[in-house]
Amino acid sequence: MKQLRIRKDKMSSIARKHPWIFSGAIESDIHGLEDGEIVEIVAKDKQVLAIGHFQHGTIAVRVLSFKRNKIDEEFYATKIQNAWELRKTLGLLSENNSIFRLIHGEGDNLPGLIIDFYNGAVVIQAHSIGMFKDQELIKNALIKVLGKDLKCIYAKNEETLPPRFEGKNEYLFGTCEMPHIALENGIQYAINWETGQKTGFFIDQRFNRDLLGKYAKDKVVLNTFCYSGGFSMSALNNGAKEVHSLDSSKKAIELTEENLTLNQFKAPHQSIVDNAVEYIKNLEHDYDVIILDPPAFAKHREKRHKAMQAYKRLNAAAIRQIKPGGIIFTFSCSQVVDKILFNNTVIAAAVEAGREVRILHQLHQPEDHPINAFHPEGEYLKGLVIEVH
Ligand code: SAH
Repeated sequence: MKQLRIRKDKMSSIARKHPWIFSGAIESDIHGLEDGEIVEIVAKDKQVLAIGHFQHGTIAVRVLSFKRNKIDEEFYATKIQNAWELRKTLGLLSENNSIFRLIHGEGDNLPGLIIDFYNGAVVIQAHSIGMFKDQELIKNALIKVLGKDLKCIYAKNEETLPPRFEGKNEYLFGTCEMPHIALENGIQYAINWETGQKTGFFIDQRFNRDLLGKYAKDKVVLNTFCYSGGFSMSALNNGAKEVHSLDSSKKAIELTEENLTLNQFKAPHQSIVDNAVEYIKNLEHDYDVIILDPPAFAKHREKRHKAMQAYKRLNAAAIRQIKPGGIIFTFSCSQVVDKILFNNTVIAAAVEAGREVRILHQLHQPEDHPINAFHPEGEYLKGLVIEVH
């Protein structure tokens, strides 16, 4: 195994157990190293500090262990077993719920790996070449740990890996028919990871959807950026008077409608294909509750300023338009926008709209998306529930 020496003045990050080693921290020659190769990180005195996946680029090594572990099937099985036990302890595999994130990259000490669980079906997504190359080990580890609870494993790597790696979208174990029915908070969802966005469903809003339900009884609700309609289903399941779901993508609206059919709610529902900001600016309805869950407006730090303007415009429009006493659930899933910046942006939007606003809840990602304490970058979802007068 190749050893990479770390620069003396760059020891503090690894000493703190941050799981990324940047290329600038490496003293050794990295020419000729293969993407995805397992390497050891060593100090000047040859002491092994960590072991991880190498990849040419800014993040040169994603650390798998700070001990001299062998990276084999057993290594992955131990990590997956720990993650599985935690999700069971959290009650995520129950009569009411069969959708959760099993492995959240750095948060589950497996940088570059995402594994989502949908009622026995597992979708794996490699965000690093090392994880892609270890896919066979991961597959076998999943089969071992999940046993009878496993129906199929689907790898969805086409969009996350550079084209030269030919990351495919394919079943690695068994097959599942599309769509696949699974439960969140007692609500049924038809999930299609073969054609859907990401791994097929936005699992990270489970807790926030449940909270929205508490505000929805007898209310008229507008769910913008609805995708497959999670917030809409939760509102209807909790006695909303009427729900409107909006997305700019027709396909997303079709998914929402499929989930409505599946659950057979009684209250009226309306689907809207439109741009959220335009629709809100020209609102003709009196809504009691509005949900704003846009895609990440800023994927990189350089785009942050422009993104903040977009968040402000969106929030200001909703704050201006909602009826007195109305509730807004507003989110940002941009990793480069931290919660203080997000809060300040919503406050600035309130100032611009010229209305009185109270903050009722500060929201974040749920516990199956854990944050490694030494990898603050893993905290990405933040939200506020505000009341507007
Ligand atoms: N709230 C959803 C997840 C939102 S993902 C859930 O709970 O599952 C973001 C969604 O925003 C995508 O479905 C995308 O199609 C939609 N979108 C992107 N830009 C938009 C815009 N300008 N107006 C309306 N929808 C938009």
